Amino acid sequence: MKQYDALIVGAGYAGAVTARRLAEDGNKKVLVLERRSHVGGNAYDCPDSAGILIHQYGPHIFHTNDRRVFDYLSRFTNWRRYQHRVIANLPRDNPEAIPPHKKTDGRMFFPVPFNLDSMRNAFGEEEGERLGRKLLDAYPAQSQVTILELRQNPDPEISAIADYVYEHVFVHYTMKQWGQTPEEIDPNTTARVPVRLSRDDRYFQDAYQGMPLEGYTPMFERMLDHPNITVELNTDALKRLELADGVIKLDGQAFDGPMIYTGQADELFGFRFGPLPYRTLEFGFETLPRDVYQTHGTVNYTVDQPYTRITEFKHLTGQELPGVTTIMKEYSRAYTGAGGEIPYYAIINPDNNALYAKYADLAAQYPNLRLLGRLAEYKYYNMDAIAARALALTDELL
Ligand code: FAD
Ligand code: UDP
Repeated sequence: MKQYDALIVGAGYAGAVTARRLAEDGNKKVLVLERRSHVGGNAYDCPDSAGILIHQYGPHIFHTNDRRVFDYLSRFTNWRRYQHRVIANLPRDNPEAIPPHKKTDGRMFFPVPFNLDSMRNAFGEEEGERLGRKLLDAYPAQSQVTILELRQNPDPEISAIADYVYEHVFVHYTMKQWGQTPEEIDPNTTARVPVRLSRDDRYFQDAYQGMPLEGYTPMFERMLDHPNITVELNTDALKRLELADGVIKLDGQAFDGPMIYTGQADELFGFRFGPLPYRTLEFGFETLPRDVYQTHGTVNYTVDQPYTRITEFKHLTGQELPGVTTIMKEYSRAYTGAGGEIPYYAIINPDNNALYAKYADLAAQYPNLRLLGRLAEYKYYNMDAIAARALALTDELL
């Protein structure tokens, strides 16, 4: 058997960045095992049967403030300039009050994150303007405030704004996404989408934002295209690995080089302490015979509908293909571990973190094993955070 210096399980961001760095900067022979039939992990994209470039595992928009991450990835892709903007689509509270020429099927729209313009859409021009000023006065040194923080404000008018935003943006969406209220989930999760004390309607405010010009998959293919890297697709690493008494065996032989594992920590150890809880998603793809379906890349259904959001890929990718478009609806539910289900979101809370810590302690008994990535670390990481962690880990290993 060919000798490898390093073993990597998974070919998503965590696996691909570490593989490239070890191969290129460390001159290590690297074996990457990937269970799926493709590289890229959950960032994988591909054309659908209508020729529309879609994201198979949910909409991915790249954004970062980390210059090193942006520069590193830019070696493997050019970027399409794209700033993601999202609107909420929800039923009007009082559709009868709208003059007939302004009626939009009883629905209303405003920018998400909720900002000073959303305030005017919600409360009317004058009242929205006044309340916006009041908010600015209440938080003079801040550019944004989280919904949970806003709800603590004792001022009755600000508390009424907080109630409005909670009801019209957060509580129903969060119930759909997590099966729990905003108070019950990790506060960092709703803090990802704050109330903006400005008119900035971009979903992300990072310095570097965009979409890989030809898609994510070609970026990953280039990253993994190196003479020192061997990628084996359709390969479940767990079928070839044995972990016992601090020793890792690959295909029955002890492997003492670094092994970077980017899959689920509980699965690596046979669910010994019980399964880690996750949320999974179902994606409803629809290809429609029209140029455009919606005004924005993503529309959040913050109050009604069984799905959380609809994404139309052409907005993200800039693809021009007349007469056809593909949209995707996201439905969230508890992950059961049934075959074919994908664990998309770790459910961060003290109990689950404690369970994860048992797996992390077990992993620490294997000196050459490193857990890296959104699954392996049981964290809610964006793509750039994983790339940054992969760069830091390989700095250490090199
Ligand atoms: P993954 O991408 O999950 O890769 C892990 C890989 O390991 C997978 O390919 C898996 O098949 C493989 N694997 C697991 N076990 C085994 C095994 N036993 N043998 C072989 N292979 C194995 N981030 C952003 O920055 N912007 C976004 O807009 C964004 N949108 C998102 C939307 C959704 C719906 C979701 C779920 C996530 C989104 N993210 C986004 C987060 C992003 O997907 C992750 O940060 C990133 O994919 C993490 O990379 P990873 O390598 O840790 O994990
Ligand atoms: N959220 C919400 N309403 C929205 C958008 C987000 O309640 O319109 C909450 C919800 O709890 C969600 C979290 O904020 O899970 C983070 O949203 P984000 O869009 O960052 O989620 P992701 O894209 O990672 O699924």
